[in-house]
Amino acid sequence: MITVHAFTFGPFQENTYVLYDETMECIIIDPGCYDQKERTELAAFIEEKKLTPVKLINTHCHLDHVFGNGFVAGKYNLKLEINKLDKQVLDSFLMTASLYGLNADPSPQPSVYLEEGDKVKFGKSELEIVFTPGHSPGSITFYNREQKFMIAGDVLFYGSIGRTDLPGGNYQTLIDSIKNKLFPLGDDFTVYNGHGPSTTIGFERLNNPFLV
Ligand SMILES: [Zn+2]
Repeated sequence: MITVHAFTFGPFQENTYVLYDETMECIIIDPGCYDQKERTELAAFIEEKKLTPVKLINTHCHLDHVFGNGFVAGKYNLKLEINKLDKQVLDSFLMTASLYGLNADPSPQPSVYLEEGDKVKFGKSELEIVFTPGHSPGSITFYNREQKFMIAGDVLFYGSIGRTDLPGGNYQTLIDSIKNKLFPLGDDFTVYNGHGPSTTIGFERLNNPFLV
């Protein structure tokens, strides 16, 4: 049984997720912890729950999702896992941060490339992957069939969708990703996203102005 714990971190109010099960192994998805206080908060949670981090993963590599990559990789001795098509986004992250006037820590280079059909295993649990580009070229969504939830990054929000005006973004590609990859998973799937409150596929299919 997977527990999903969310933090909201950084100047862009990004949602960072720690997923763990009864084995107490955990994975950290999109660590957006920007300053020391937020990094301490993340580490304190992991310590308090006695979790063992086993994977560091990005849904995509926009700056707000990778601010804490260096911290997490260093503290827990983890390799970074992303989709290959977001490597270019990761490579420009420090430059993008400086354009925002932000002083960011470098991220490690990816060591593992994740693709649709791959499985992310930790403890006794497993996530599956669908490729959901459009917000960024290499956005991937992780989902668990039994518990019916997904970690969707910035693909689909409560009542909205990810922006498509950043490099590598494409509006129609994003709409296609949502309708062809996320909707078929089922209306009863909970969507944990990169910003704002979680939602469900059923609610968005009926109410999201970009999708109805
Ligand atoms: Zn993003």
